[in-house]
Amino acid sequence: MKKYVIAMDQGTTSSRCILFDRQGNICSVAQKEFPQLYPQPGWVEHDPMEIWSTQMGVTMEAMQKVDARAGEIAAIGITNQRETTVVWDGATGEPVYNAIVWQCRRTADRIDRLRQDGWWEAIRRRTGLIPDAYFSASKIAWLLDHVPGARARAERGELKFGTVDSWLIWNLTEGRVHATDRTNASRTMLYDIHKLCWDREILDYFRIPASMLPQVYPSSHIYGATGRFGGSIPIAAAAGDQQAALFGQCGFEPGDVKSTYGTGGFLLMNTGGQAVRSTKGLLTTIAASAGQPVSYALEGSVFVAGAAIQWLRDELRMLRSAPQSEGFCTAVEDTRGVYVVPAFAGMGAPYWEPYARGTIVGLTRGVTKEHLVRAVVESLAYQTNDLLLAMKEESGLPIASLKVDGGASANSFLMQFQSDLSDIRIDRPRCIETTALGAAYLAGLAVGYWQDLEEIRANWGRERAFTPSIPADIRERLVRGWNRAVRCALAWAREED
Ligand code: ADP
Repeated sequence: MKKYVIAMDQGTTSSRCILFDRQGNICSVAQKEFPQLYPQPGWVEHDPMEIWSTQMGVTMEAMQKVDARAGEIAAIGITNQRETTVVWDGATGEPVYNAIVWQCRRTADRIDRLRQDGWWEAIRRRTGLIPDAYFSASKIAWLLDHVPGARARAERGELKFGTVDSWLIWNLTEGRVHATDRTNASRTMLYDIHKLCWDREILDYFRIPASMLPQVYPSSHIYGATGRFGGSIPIAAAAGDQQAALFGQCGFEPGDVKSTYGTGGFLLMNTGGQAVRSTKGLLTTIAASAGQPVSYALEGSVFVAGAAIQWLRDELRMLRSAPQSEGFCTAVEDTRGVYVVPAFAGMGAPYWEPYARGTIVGLTRGVTKEHLVRAVVESLAYQTNDLLLAMKEESGLPIASLKVDGGASANSFLMQFQSDLSDIRIDRPRCIETTALGAAYLAGLAVGYWQDLEEIRANWGRERAFTPSIPADIRERLVRGWNRAVRCALAWAREED
């Protein structure tokens, strides 16, 4: 009798494992942080062996907590930090270098060169991405250029590349399977999301031998089996974290959107079989799906979301804890005309102004700490609204509701304000571990633990809904004020001399 599905949730700062039952309940959790390595300013690395050993450790721990045996596990689903790049020796399994983490900026100049070389448009069109050092392509090229002997070994077919899902699958199967899924492949900047294959010309441009690349499969697929936990367990899913979260939120239909309010913010909209090309700086990417036909998604990110609340807490010392912000917000009626644009690291979609900086406008003598805190919390909603509007416009799809998750989605003031501002119903689910849940669902579907999407939908439970409660004229006035504040942040960037 299969009791559980295991989700391996390999994140940027920690490895986690959750055991879910058929109702999607969390039965056991274990989590372990691992070191972040900063060898130079702007560089970020992880030790791939730490990624592997912590993921193994937490999986054993989570199984032990409920005394689960391998025979009781229906399947393992993997979800992972995206884009992070590992290159290892196919014979020994030894990494040739540390994992280069998605945040790492070491290859920014390579991307500048790509633009000069006239590759920008072709890469944008074929991969759906805006060329950037975040994605794996320039990281692999860097490893081949800088690790002594790596290029020759790669050309002899001795080296393997993988995102973290591939690295885990390789180790779980003791080197028998070198594979990835389409959602992870679509973040490498080497994968043609329309033709569903590695792009030979982009590989040639980056001088990456095709023999290094994993086989690409749908997210919900039996990749192999692992004998690492005392018996054979199928590895039946892999998906990048944001795509797994959209699936975990039951975002199966075109027009379904999820919004994550974490340190940063991530919006993903399912666009079905249509790969929508954005002109507002959204990314086009592959969504996790259970069937064969591919589904696409539009993705937008907010660089500074919960991080702005951390700033209030840690730098301005206005809060003792992030949840305390809610009480300040509801203690006042509005922000007294104050807007905060937390463009600490420039502005992303739909503005794309890397030199914009944080801006506070509308200060008057009566403005208190409460007003300022509220303006910061509201800024999370305004930024999300900008992305939602862009998605709605570009996809042409109606958005029925917004499904939310992430730490700051616990802030009910913020959720109500988002609903008012975007004139949309917000559904906050009971299970906010949507990333792990999505990986579990994808794996369970592949092995028949769950029969179909209907069975999974039946598991989805709403903890609370928020519905719009303000008239259109007030909404318009709020948005006008925000747009004006954004223009101030942009003007600051442009007038630099
Ligand atoms: P991540 O996965 O990116 O580390 P989490 O989803 O754990 O982030 O969310 C943590 C973020 O949410 C922090 O930036 C924190 O400031 C913010 N946060 C947590 N609780 C609240 C709250 N009640 N109100 C506002 N922000 C919150």
